Amino acid sequence: MSTIPAAERQAYIEKVRQDFPALHQQVHGKPLIYMDNGATTHKPNAVIDCESTFYKTVNSNVHRGAHYLSDKATEQFEAARRTVQNFIGALKPEEIIWTSGTTEGINLVASTWGRKNIGPGDRILVSEMEHHSNIVPWQILAEEKGAEVVPIPVLDNGELDLNGFAELMEPRVKLISIAHVSNSLGSINPIHDIVRMARINESVVMVDGAQGVSHFDVDVLRLDCDFYAFSSHKLFGPTGMGVLYGKEELLNEMPPYRGGGEMIDRCSFDGTTWNQLPYKFEAGTPNIAGAIALGAAIEYLNSLDRKILAAQEDVLIKKAHEMAAELGGIRIVGEARKKASVFSFLLEGAHPADVGALLDQQGIAIRTGHHCAQPLMARLGIPGTARASMAFYNTEAEVEALFKGLEKAKTFLL
Ligand code: PMP
Repeated sequence: MSTIPAAERQAYIEKVRQDFPALHQQVHGKPLIYMDNGATTHKPNAVIDCESTFYKTVNSNVHRGAHYLSDKATEQFEAARRTVQNFIGALKPEEIIWTSGTTEGINLVASTWGRKNIGPGDRILVSEMEHHSNIVPWQILAEEKGAEVVPIPVLDNGELDLNGFAELMEPRVKLISIAHVSNSLGSINPIHDIVRMARINESVVMVDGAQGVSHFDVDVLRLDCDFYAFSSHKLFGPTGMGVLYGKEELLNEMPPYRGGGEMIDRCSFDGTTWNQLPYKFEAGTPNIAGAIALGAAIEYLNSLDRKILAAQEDVLIKKAHEMAAELGGIRIVGEARKKASVFSFLLEGAHPADVGALLDQQGIAIRTGHHCAQPLMARLGIPGTARASMAFYNTEAEVEALFKGLEKAKTFLL
């Protein structure tokens, strides 16, 4: 339970909200209540200004060393890499690979580590609660290699079935790829325990951190995972940008991902050799402004009191659950004991799409549907949910407004 006095926390959050210009607008003539942070978060001025300043000033290509501006751009670009390294507790900046997002990070590992290490009859474990981007790349790989993708079961309350997971562990399991936090349910998976069990089996562990880094501190060394992928745009940074962390020894053994400029050491028609880490995996001109602005997003987060932010999210999800019980007729989907501020629900008797449309008319932005997790919806026997995914800048008053909206939806739809 949070020990921060409510008034202090609320005043802090009101101040933080001022940093996010997009929160202060009207939609359909109503003040925006943005609860679709699982899809993407809004950006603070620090990020918007950083990207704009880059293009107004040092804009140049990196690692070309040709002139003053190129050197400045390279300095900022590599400083951002160190910012990410420190943010997730990686040992070296070489372990931070720039990608376009979580999806690309997972595809990179599937097509490089996977192509090299997965063979006929091998097993890849993913959980039933995964986003499609942590299922499909493995299915493509398995199809190519004659391997198998095997689902780790999920309990009815949305927690990972750790006993079921233990039963699946056997020598054929070469890789476990698992979400840190479920985008549809908010369940926080016990990565540390999973890695411990994986080590006994000598399996590699990849973590889909798309919904993890925005909610709490992540320390990849403490988790001891082998790979960790996340997207900048869900971490208050720009779109089209992401990070893949990998342990140096694994990255060194992996073949390159894409061929092109920057990823080579020497190129000739007699054969080509690869550049050192991390550039081996960064063919072509990278998203320079995106990387630097992601660095700005992390520096912005570092400037905030993350204890207060975490307490805020905690208060919001508890309030949503309490208000759901008070209102009645709401089925909460996902009640894991450890859960991020994701409120997935069904209004009994109403289609989630209709609930979403009615809330939108009241200025409340949520997401409805299968949340790119169709196997999970099939497991739970539902077509989809309505999902209010909250960030630290959401308020208790907004949760109250959400439930006022749901009350209205009830009168309209039921
Ligand atoms: N995994 C999870 C758990 C996600 O929530 C998402 C985005 N919804 C992704 C992967 C894919 O992220 P991106 O589209 O940014 O690559």
